Order: sequence, then structure tokens, then C-alpha cells
Amino acid sequence: MDEIIRAVTKDGFIKISAISGRNIVERARQFHNLSPVASAALGRTLCATSILGDLLKEEDATVTVRINGGGPIGSVIAVSDSSGNVRGYVQNPHIDLPLKANGKLDVGSAVGTMGTLTVSRDLGLKEPYIGSTALVSGEIAEDFTYYFVESEQVGAACGLGVLVDTDLSIRCAAGFIVALLPGAPNSLIDQIESNIAQMGPVTEVLKDGSADDLVRLVLAGLEPEVLSRRQVDYRCYCSRDRILRALESIGKEALDELAESGENAEVNCQFCNKIYTFTPDEIRAISTASE
Ligand code: ZN
Repeated sequence: MDEIIRAVTKDGFIKISAISGRNIVERARQFHNLSPVASAALGRTLCATSILGDLLKEEDATVTVRINGGGPIGSVIAVSDSSGNVRGYVQNPHIDLPLKANGKLDVGSAVGTMGTLTVSRDLGLKEPYIGSTALVSGEIAEDFTYYFVESEQVGAACGLGVLVDTDLSIRCAAGFIVALLPGAPNSLIDQIESNIAQMGPVTEVLKDGSADDLVRLVLAGLEPEVLSRRQVDYRCYCSRDRILRALESIGKEALDELAESGENAEVNCQFCNKIYTFTPDEIRAISTASE
């Protein structure tokens, strides 16, 4: 089971959330038949979005992350509920790119850098809270770090990683977001930076370890105290009713056209690929109801 751990240093200046997210990313891979580079791009985004969801205080709130970098993968979308349960998709799940010179998946080229990372928090009010920043590298962790600093004015560091096995399944997926509270002394910032540099890639830590090891290593020497642990999962909330409402929104004309084709209409959920089938009579009923 995947898990998010939240911890704080004894002096209260630094907070961290760390996730072990292998099962979430593996389910995403299976739902969407993701290529390795798509697994890495969506997997990193799902891990970060799950952490943001876990931090929401309102029960019915959701957070949506959209990354539009102009690269061949198209848009990367992830949505989390307020318990960190997350879902997502990419526009082009099968893209394949050469590895980078260092042998790593080239997420930056897949995502692109000509665009934005947008975080939208829907707290059940009239309008969602939306923040957006330009992409820095398309590698996602750096883009989130930049987002926190620029859009939310929080000193932060973010690490995200997905390791794809030779059979294309997900070997491990992990991430952390560490935030400095106002007034944190520079020496603490230096210490965190040096801890992160010494730790190396998050997937190396998670290969034989857990989210606890991420907390321990990022906050080494700072006496972290665990505040909460929560199990998280890939969770889609689609239903026939929701799909029906989406169908309504395409308009009477399009619905009538669909009904007159005489064939069943099949609608896929974007997040879990579940297929919902509607007969011409059902489509006609939706069209009538939308009048
Ligand atoms: Zn679904």
C-alpha cells in the first residue's frame, strides 16, 4: 500500500511530506498503457499531486495539476481528493523518446518547457484558487519547486522519481516536498540542500526503503517528528451519472446526431478507461432532458 508521511523538525521551521507511490503509478500505467517516459511524467505528477491533496484541510476539496509544456506528451493532468487519493492521465500515453545521455528517461523533452504548471484548488467555494508558473525544465520536480517559490511564496524543495523496470512495470515511485516556514535560518536551508544532494535520487532511496527513509535523509540532523501517515491509492470517482452529465454538455444537436446514427455510443472515462455504453434511446432521452 502506498503511503504519505508528514513530518516537522523539532524547531518547527521545516515541514516535509514524503510519498511512496509505486502502486498508484503502476495502476496508472495499466489503465493507460503508458510508455516508460509517460509513466515517469505522469507518475511524478501523481506523486506531487497526492501530496498536495493530503495537505488540503476541507473534506470535499480537490486539487488539480495541469502541466502543458508543448512537448509530444501533450497535457499532463492529475487530480487528488483531500485524502491524497489521486487519478490522472496524459494526452499521448504511448510516446517513446531516446534516453538521455545519462541513461535516464527524457521527461523534460516529453513534457517540453514552452508552457505552464497550473495548480487549481477547489475548496467548494464559487471559484477555485488557481496559481500558475512557467515551466523551468519540464522535469516536473524543478517545476514544482519553482511554482512553490514564485506562486505561493514558500521556500521549498521538491524531489520526484519513477523507476521503470525492464518489463515496463513500475519498480518504484516516490517523492517529497519540503517547505521552509518564515524565519527559518539560512544555516537550516544550507543543511537541507546538502542533505538532498547527499541523498541522491529518490528512487534510489525507495528501491530498498520506504517513505520514512526519505524523511530521515532529507531532514538528517534535524530531529524530525512524524505528524501523520496516511495510506493513499489511485482512485477514480467516475460513474454512469457523471458521464451522463458530461454527455449532456455536448449539446442537443450533437446528441441528436449521435442518436440518429442508430449505434450505441461508447464513452471512456479519461482517468480509468472504463467504458460506459449508451443506446440510441438513452441518448435521445438525454437530449430531451437537456431541452
Ligand atoms: Zn473512471
